[in-house]
Amino acid sequence: MRLFKKHSSVRKGSFEYLKEELVNYIATNKHEITRTINERAKGDPLKAYEGMLEVYDEVLNRIEDKCEFKSTCKKGCADCCYQAIYVNYLEAKIILDSIDKLYRRQREKIRKVAQENMRIIEENKIPLKLLMVDDETDIQKKYLKLKLPCPLLGEEHSCIIYNDRPTVCQRYRNYGEACKCEGQISNDSYSFPELADEQVLIEMAINGEKSPDTRFFLLSSLLANEI
Ligand code: SF4
Repeated sequence: MRLFKKHSSVRKGSFEYLKEELVNYIATNKHEITRTINERAKGDPLKAYEGMLEVYDEVLNRIEDKCEFKSTCKKGCADCCYQAIYVNYLEAKIILDSIDKLYRRQREKIRKVAQENMRIIEENKIPLKLLMVDDETDIQKKYLKLKLPCPLLGEEHSCIIYNDRPTVCQRYRNYGEACKCEGQISNDSYSFPELADEQVLIEMAINGEKSPDTRFFLLSSLLANEI
């Protein structure tokens, strides 16, 4: 088995090239990545979760620099915040703790948007819960047509709980033309499927269970009911 895969015929400076570079890097450095996450965690599963996001962010930044190919995501561009966002128990806890620290007026505004969203979500029979194995593609296509903003989207089109936003938001990067993702999921986006394994291990450690809780809740539903 060869450790370093050669690039296929994909063009340097393309999204496919970056993806290949990233997949090869993670496959080759998996033990090192896990060791770094464990070092930062110091035995605390919540810190492990933060560490996991930090480390993968650093890896992707490094690969972007190496490939000289940067994500087109920028502050104020929030088209991806109109997707259906599903979160698990751990993320829900982090999000609700973060919202708890906001002013009452902000919390009420979030709840109002979430409740308005829920009226339309229920009319359109969007699932409120998913399992890890469920395919979201059709749900996302339907949801994007509803043009519902995430309740956590702030006035300047930035996330109100940026540092505590769900994993799916943290790991999503678009490499296609900026602002072309409006109303659709960009074909040139990457959302770190490699993180899923680490996340499962950390959740198992937190829950003290043999298997992770694989249920995911629709963010608007969580916010409409829990704040
Ligand atoms: S949680 Fe924040 S980043 Fe994620 S969709 Fe909502 S506003 Fe956007």
